[in-house]
Amino acid sequence: MKILLVDDSATIRRILKGLLGPLGVSDILEAGNGNQALKVLAENPGIDYMLLDWNMPELDGLGVLKQVRVNDSYRDLKIIMCTSEADKTKVIEAIKAGANNYIVKPFTPDIIKEKLVL
Ligand SMILES: [Mg+2]
Repeated sequence: MKILLVDDSATIRRILKGLLGPLGVSDILEAGNGNQALKVLAENPGIDYMLLDWNMPELDGLGVLKQVRVNDSYRDLKIIMCTSEADKTKVIEAIKAGANNYIVKPFTPDIIKEKLVL
């Protein structure tokens, strides 16, 4: 199981890493903005899941999602959008754009377990 964590907050990435470790996920990649995420995806084939923050500088999560979903090489990549409570209503837009699921912050171990099929 290879997972890419995309969030502009290093703290959030650290928290997610801490939650995924005990679930048995050791192959974890990180990106701090949308452009970095696209670069990491291109350079690391076989990523199973991307946890994708919505609000990020340079290129936001929705922008990444749209670019990834028109690229056939990523057809097996599962994308889980991570939104804040305030952005919850935008989730429909993300699902329409091809997100597989979403998580509303703050994360708990149970929510992570529920949304990822590990
Ligand atoms: Mg953010």
